[in-house]
Amino acid sequence: MNCYICKASTDHYFRKQFDRFGLGSVNYRRCKACGTVYAETLLQLPEERWREVSEAYHNSYRGSGENPDDPNWRVRLNQQAEILLKLAENGLLKTDRPWLDYGCGEGELASMLEERIERISCYDRYWKCDGYLQESELIPGHYSLLISTSTMEHLRSRSNMDAINGLISEDGSLALHTLVRGEIPCDPAWFYLLPVHTIFYTNRGMAQLFTQWGFRSSIYAVDARLWIWYRKPLITAVKQWPELLSLPGLHATEGFMAYWP
Ligand SMILES: [Zn+2]
Repeated sequence: MNCYICKASTDHYFRKQFDRFGLGSVNYRRCKACGTVYAETLLQLPEERWREVSEAYHNSYRGSGENPDDPNWRVRLNQQAEILLKLAENGLLKTDRPWLDYGCGEGELASMLEERIERISCYDRYWKCDGYLQESELIPGHYSLLISTSTMEHLRSRSNMDAINGLISEDGSLALHTLVRGEIPCDPAWFYLLPVHTIFYTNRGMAQLFTQWGFRSSIYAVDARLWIWYRKPLITAVKQWPELLSLPGLHATEGFMAYWP
C-alpha cells in the first residue's frame, strides 16, 4: 500500500496479536517518507466487518461514563470545551455558521458547548442518537468549526480524511484531537495500538496533510491536547487577541504546530 498522505510506498513495520473481537494478527506498515503508520489488516476489512468491530469496541464501555483505554477522557473533554469557548469569545473561532462535532460518540463535548454556542450539530458514523445528523445531511463547506476529537485515528481511506476537511467553510477552522508524534514506535506493546485504531500520524505526515487541506497556521493547547487549525496566517488569525501568543500552555505557529517529539 501507499501512504494516504504523501503517496510514498510503505514498508512492513510489525505485527500485533489481538485477542478481542476476532481480529487475530494485525499487520502494520510504515510510510518510507513521512513515517505515518497504517494498520493494514484493519484497513482491508470489509466495511460490514469493520462496523461490527467498531460497534463492539465502543459498546464495550459506552454508557459507563468511562473508557478504560483512555482514563483521562472526561478531564480532557472539560479542558477542550473551555479552550474552544475561550477562543470563540475572543473572536478566534467564528460562530456565524454552525459548528459540527464529527465523530461525536455520545455527544458529551457538544453538550458542554451548546449552552454558549448557539448552533452545534452532532454526527457519528457508528453511533446514533436523537438529533444527530445523518451522513446525507452533512453539508460540504458549511461549518465554521469542525471538531474532530479521537476520530482521525479511526479513518480507513484518504477519501474519509478529505470528507472531514470538505465540510469546513472557506474561512473555517478545524479543532483536532488525535495522537501525533515524531516517530511511531516499532513496538507491538505500544498503548495506542487499539483494535479500532487504523492510522498513526507523525509530525511530518500531519504537516503535509495540513498544507494539502489549505490551512496556514495553528494553535496547540497542551492541557486539552487540542489543535486549532486556521486557514489564515497567524498574524491575521490572532489579531483580535494577540495576548494569546503568550498564554501559558498555548503554542501558536505558522504551519502545523509539531508539539510532541
Ligand atoms: Zn507518507
